[in-house]
Formats: sequence, C-alpha cells, structure tokens
Amino acid sequence: MKYVDEFRDPTTARQLVAEIRRTATQRWVLMEVCGGQTHGLLRHGIESELRDTVELIHGPGCPVCVTPIAAIDFAQELAMRDNVVVASFGDMLRVPGSRNSLLNVRGAGGHLKIVYSPLDAVTFAQQHPDQQVVFFAVGFETTAPATALAVLQAERLNLSNFSLLVSHVRVQPAMEELMDSPDNRVQAFLAAGHVCTITGFASYDAFVRRYKVPVVVTGFEPIDLLEGILECIRQLETGRKKVSNRYARSVSRAGNLSAQDVVTQVYEIDDRPWRGFGTIPCGGYSLRSEYRRFDAEKRFGHVSLHSQLPILGDEVCRAADVLAGRLRPTACPEFGTACTPESPLGAPMVSSEGACAAYYQYDSAGRAPSFSQTQSEKSTSASPSSSSSDVSTVETGASTK
Ligand code: SF4
Repeated sequence: MKYVDEFRDPTTARQLVAEIRRTATQRWVLMEVCGGQTHGLLRHGIESELRDTVELIHGPGCPVCVTPIAAIDFAQELAMRDNVVVASFGDMLRVPGSRNSLLNVRGAGGHLKIVYSPLDAVTFAQQHPDQQVVFFAVGFETTAPATALAVLQAERLNLSNFSLLVSHVRVQPAMEELMDSPDNRVQAFLAAGHVCTITGFASYDAFVRRYKVPVVVTGFEPIDLLEGILECIRQLETGRKKVSNRYARSVSRAGNLSAQDVVTQVYEIDDRPWRGFGTIPCGGYSLRSEYRRFDAEKRFGHVSLHSQLPILGDEVCRAADVLAGRLRPTACPEFGTACTPESPLGAPMVSSEGACAAYYQYDSAGRAPSFSQTQSEKSTSASPSSSSSDVSTVETGASTK
C-alpha cells in the first residue's frame, strides 16, 4: 500500500536501528510528545529494541488523559439532566471521573450519544430540536478545526440546542512547561506529526532557540519513528540543535492555513487546565465571545473546569507522573494488577493513546520487534552494524517484555 508499506519496511528499519546504535555515544533521553507515537514505538517493538541506546520518555500527548476531571464530571452531570444529550467520541466513554465514567452514567440512565464527528452531533441536534445536545470537544490542535466547523454549522442552521463542552488543548505550551520544570530530563523531542500537519512547525524555531533542544517533526510508522530518533541523536551528537521535519509527506512549515483560519475564527487561545500539569498559560482554546452562546459551561451554569478534583483511585493512580514523563507506566505499583484496561484506575490505562494502555497491550506481551530479523537473515548478516551484539539485543528485547 503506497505511503504505508515503504514506512514499514523491515530492511530499512534494521538499517536505521543499526545507524542509531552507531551514532549514539551515550544513552540520550528523548520524549515523543504524542500518545499515538507512544503506541507506535511499543507496538513495533522500537522502544524495547533501542532501550539500551535511547531512553524514550512518553509525553503528555493523549488528549483524553489530560482532560481535567472536572470536565468529565460536568459531562456526566449534564448527561443525567432531563432533555440533555452528551455527544462524545467513543474514547471518552470509559475514562474515570471523580466517581464514575460516562459508560457508568449511561448504564444509570444518562443520555449519551456516540458520534464519529462533531458534525454528526450538529445533525443529531437538528433532528432532535426538543433536546439540548452538548458535544464534548476534547483534543489537540488536530481536532479543534472540526469542532470549530461544527460551531459555524450550528450558527448557519440557527440551532439553539447545540453547544460545546470545550476541553481543547495546545501542545507547544505543554512542552514549554516540561522544559521549565526543575526536574526536566528531556534532551530532544519527537514532535507530533499530526498536530504539525495543522499548525506547521515554524513556531518551533523560537522553542529551539530558547531551550536549545532538537525538535524533530515525526510521523507514526516504524520508519518515521526511527528516522525521527536518528535525527535527534545526530543533532545531539553534533551539538547542532534545530527544527527538522521528518514527516514532509504530511507536514509543511506553514501548516494547514484553512484549518488554522477556522480555529482562529471560532476560538481564542486561553489558559487551560491539564491533568497532571495544572493550568498551563495559553495551554488551550476557549470560544470567542461571538460564539460563546455555544458554550455549554455558560448555557448550563458555570462550573470551574480549572478545579482539580480528586479522582477515582487518585490515592494510588500515578497518572500525573506518567503524563509528565516522571514515571514509566510499568513502574506504577498498580500496573497490570489493580489497574487494567478492563478495570482502569486512570485515563492512561483506558485511552487509545494512553501510555499505560500501550505498555499493557504491547510491552507485557513479549512481542518481538515488527522488523525483527528472520533466522536466515541473522545467520547471513555480515554488516558490522548488524553484528552479533545487535542480534542478541533483538532477542533480549523480545524476552524482557
Ligand atoms: S497504571 Fe493505572 S493506576 Fe498506574 S498510573 Fe497508569 S492509569 Fe494510573
């Protein structure tokens, strides 16, 4: 399949692994910002394959995981009101609030509609004029254009029964928060390719100048991830820190200007609370005053989404540390015991982009790298870069997962 198979090619992957090992003179600390990249690194065995060469810290790029508990609780409360329907993507369903998940609330008679796009929610509101439809707008810069379009469509249709519970967040301010933290260990970033598809990467120039760390825009397939890691290490080894785009088939310097325009029309940049971080200056979006009549917080009574309520299992869940890259998921005492995808204590275990879910799904399964050599390839391999030490690491990686 074009644009897929060539980015999963095992031979290229093995060459890149060998080149990464040749280039690194020390175990550098890299952070992949996006939860989709975390899952790719685990799913393809890259994290375990390179564990001896690179420390990969998993970043806060799971929008479900960083959604404040107060927002989840408010969505649940709205779903229990008469004539109110909360519309949401499916990945919010099982995320714990302070007492319940939306799934529990639906079981208790709450009104929940699973949709595949924000425009589906607008259509549902159009078809059900006797009900108030609240779309739970969670996500990064990637999903904000679609929810902005939904607001514009609701305005065009003059709908008075559609609103948004806005919990959109912006990635770069969170990266700044991480770098400003006194316990920061990140030496280079793999920036989220899908976010940069919308935003472009020009704004990272100032970030690199300020923090003097490589920022490499990276995709999600094994070759994308390995190229991103290699570029980070090359920059770190030579001391030439810059922004590099390794996802050029999707990302341009300026980004998607049409998407940016629609976001700017509907939203303004605002301080936003992030789970695990507290309120991040300019860390998200709020509806502009012209569109505030579509704000569910205003329509149904203001609740402070900035409050940091305790969560279900908060006394044991270490999600805040996982999201800030301070704790490896498998180091959480509850991992795989009290906390599993079937019985999650925190969002990172249940979200499709959560780091705990990635480790549970892939790392504990004893999986070999997806680009692992076959026996015949191992025995005929003559390149110094794929010597016996490489082969043994492949086997060690597989046995330690
Ligand atoms: S393993 Fe479970 S309890 Fe531990 S940090 Fe992850 S979500 Fe929270």
